[in-house]
Amino acid sequence: MPARLTVRSARLREVSWGLFDLDNTLYPKGSGVMEVISQRIHDYMAQRLKMDEDTIQTLRSRYVGLYGTTMRGLILEHGVDAEDYLHYVHDFPVEQFLVRSDRLDQVLEELPWQKVIFTSSTREHAHLVLGALGVERHFPRVYDIRDTGYVGKPAGSAFRTLFDGIHAEPQQCVLLDDSVANLRAASELGMATVGVGCQEGAEGVDWCVERVEDVLGLFESLVKALCPGDEGLSTTIHRRAND
Ligand SMILES: [Mg+2]
Repeated sequence: MPARLTVRSARLREVSWGLFDLDNTLYPKGSGVMEVISQRIHDYMAQRLKMDEDTIQTLRSRYVGLYGTTMRGLILEHGVDAEDYLHYVHDFPVEQFLVRSDRLDQVLEELPWQKVIFTSSTREHAHLVLGALGVERHFPRVYDIRDTGYVGKPAGSAFRTLFDGIHAEPQQCVLLDDSVANLRAASELGMATVGVGCQEGAEGVDWCVERVEDVLGLFESLVKALCPGDEGLSTTIHRRAND
């Protein structure tokens, strides 16, 4: 195993918290959920703020670059009410786009981390998604955009709010997210990172998996590679699975 990979793998041994992004991470990108959300952001700007097509495209791109999200730009530069915006963009039957995943349920059961949802959407949206996937029981805590003062990832303040809330150091956490910008920010803070469905080799991404369900296989192979013959971490996995 190359030295750099060994160092990165060793970081995973310190991890006791799995911080899971929600949208396009816990369910596949092709589900259509984010396409609806994106359309509703567009409609909000067109209907509520009376913006034309060119303005909407320009501002969305500018605000994501400047502030991380369109919402933050609309709050700061247009005085948009955050709750009005959040209610509007999430007001659709998200559960109709998702199917229950027994495999994901099993993987979450076996991963030996305390698990938290860390999302830039709302708690209500998160519970609908988790319920539709059948995995709500694994996430006793959801950190949503309100918990982080309406400032989402990749802002450092959002991460620090979460670390304070769970009483953990960044080195004890792994972020699983589909956004390279979020993963890069997490890595700079000292977290281990797993990119879900994103490009291999991107800066700040320690490992990539195609689907979140593949994380268990990744974790077990890293344990074996790190300490052949030492089944310590694997034992932890199976003991927790049988609790
Ligand atoms: Mg996401």
